[in-house]
Amino acid sequence: MKALVLEEYKKLVYRDYPDPSLRGPDDVIVRVRASAICGSDVHGLDGSTGRRIPPLVMGHEASGEIVETGSAVRSYKAGDRVTFDSTEFCGSCFHCRRGEVNLCDNRRVLGVSCGDYRRDGTFAEYVVIPERILYRMPEALDFVAASIAEPAAVAAHAAAITPIALGDSLAVVGAGLIGLLLIQILRANSSSPIAAFDTDPRRRAAALAVGADIALDPADPASKQAVLDLSSGRGFDRVFEAVGAEAPIATAISSVRKGGTVTLIGNVNPTVSIPLQAVVTRQISLLGSCAMAGEYPLVLDLLSREKIKAESIVSAVAPLSDGASWFVRLYAREPGLLKVVLQP
Ligand SMILES: [Zn+2]
Ligand SMILES: [Zn+2]
Repeated sequence: MKALVLEEYKKLVYRDYPDPSLRGPDDVIVRVRASAICGSDVHGLDGSTGRRIPPLVMGHEASGEIVETGSAVRSYKAGDRVTFDSTEFCGSCFHCRRGEVNLCDNRRVLGVSCGDYRRDGTFAEYVVIPERILYRMPEALDFVAASIAEPAAVAAHAAAITPIALGDSLAVVGAGLIGLLLIQILRANSSSPIAAFDTDPRRRAAALAVGADIALDPADPASKQAVLDLSSGRGFDRVFEAVGAEAPIATAISSVRKGGTVTLIGNVNPTVSIPLQAVVTRQISLLGSCAMAGEYPLVLDLLSREKIKAESIVSAVAPLSDGASWFVRLYAREPGLLKVVLQP
C-alpha cells in the first residue's frame, strides 16, 4: 500500500509500505478514506514530544470502510463504514472495567511510537483496528466529517465529566480547534449563555459563528465587566480551558464563580503556575480531561445532524500524496489553518 511515512524527524515521504495484517481474530482491516492531521502529529514531527519516533505512519483521526474481518468479529462486515477510537484500550485492566477506557493501563494511541510501543496509524491506505474500538458511521455522514469525530469526542468528554446543571452559565477559553468543537457541543445541549475567550480576533469571530453568545478578548480590561454582566455578577458556573498555557488558565480561573469548575483540556505546556490562593479561597474545582471514553456515538449523532459542523473546522481536504507539504504549512503555523484532512 501507499503511506505517508515519517522516515526521520521532519522528513515525511509518501511511499510504498507493507500492508497491515490481522493480528488476531478480533481485528478488522479498514481502508482509510479520510484522515485528519492532529496538532500532536505536527508537534511530534520534530521529535520534541518523544512520541513519534521514526520510522512511523502517524495519524489517529480517521474514517473508512472495512475490507476484511477476523474470524471472531460478529458486529461488523466488509463494506461497513466506520470510524474508531484513537486509542486501543485493553478492555480488562482496572480502569477499562470501570469504563474509564481513556485511562487504560495498556493504552496505545494509533500512529504513536514512544519507546514503549510503536503503532502505525492512519496516514495510509489501510490500517488494522480491533473490533472493540470501532463505531459505525451514521448514513448521513461523509468520511471527512467522520474523521472529525475524534477531536469532537475529546471536546465532548470534557463536557461530559463537568458537572453542568440546567441553566449553568458556560465559558470556553481558547477558540482553536477543540474550543470551537466544544462551543458547538455545549450549544447543542444548552440555551444558557456561552462565552468564548481568545486574544485573536479571527478566532473570536469563529467562536461567534459556531454559537457563542459573546466572544471576549482576555487582554481587554472591559472583559472583566462583561463577564460579571453575563453571569449575574458572580462569574461563570463552568469554564473550560482549551489551550494549556499559563495566561489562558489564569483567565479561566478569574472568570469562574466561587465554587465553580474549571475543566482543563489543553496541555501545551507541561507545567504552569496557577493562582493558588484564588483556587483555594474561592473553592474552585480543577478537573483534568483526557481524550475520550465512549463519547463517539454522541458526537457522530451531532455531526450527522450538523449540530457540529465539520466545515467550521476543516480548512482543507487534500490527497494523502500531498500530505508532506500540508505538514510543512501546519508546522509553520500558517494563520487561519485549522484542520487539514488527507484522503488516501
Ligand atoms: Zn489528535
Ligand atoms: Zn485497559
